[in-house]
Amino acid sequence: MSTLPNNLKKISLFLERLPGIGEKTANRLAFYFLRLPEEDLKDFSESISTLKEKTKFCKNCFNLTEDSLCEICLDSKRDHSIITVVETVLDLLSFETGNIYDGVYHVLQGKIDPLNHVGPDDIKINELFKRIKAAGEVKEIILATSPDMEGEATAMFIKNKLSELTDSRIKALKITRLAYGLPIGANLEYADYMTLKKAIEGRNKF
Ligand SMILES: [Zn+2]
Repeated sequence: MSTLPNNLKKISLFLERLPGIGEKTANRLAFYFLRLPEEDLKDFSESISTLKEKTKFCKNCFNLTEDSLCEICLDSKRDHSIITVVETVLDLLSFETGNIYDGVYHVLQGKIDPLNHVGPDDIKINELFKRIKAAGEVKEIILATSPDMEGEATAMFIKNKLSELTDSRIKALKITRLAYGLPIGANLEYADYMTLKKAIEGRNKF
């Protein structure tokens, strides 16, 4: 490493700070940059240097965007009466990559986690309630928070709060939770007890 020219060393050291990248991979990637055309490198460095300045949160769903509303919220072909509530933008991307869902989202930007001092007011829960009240067209909320203790607590909190709201329209709202189960292709023998328990609870007619 010490024999590398300064700039290349700096790039390699930066890459090494990225998750899952060790010193060897960082060096390999830095060398890869060196072989790229000048134009590509300029494009890439421009994107990096304006990343923070250009990236904002959608004011409706808190997905990432360069404008005030994200592409999903602006898409009139999507079903705006179904909102899937996720913890992070990465969770949203998982749904989008699979092309399996045509409703809209609400990104909480976290989950309720009392041990780490994250309460309901620290994430975008109130914004979700405001949105549901204001929209007037929401028929279903799919709670897609993670299946761990904090994710469950967050889903339960949202469900209870929504049930407390007296508006008759909100009373008619369907609240669902993602089904849990076994991964496709998995061997039952290796499934943990909780996954099997959830899978048997959520079994379907065959
Ligand atoms: Zn949005």
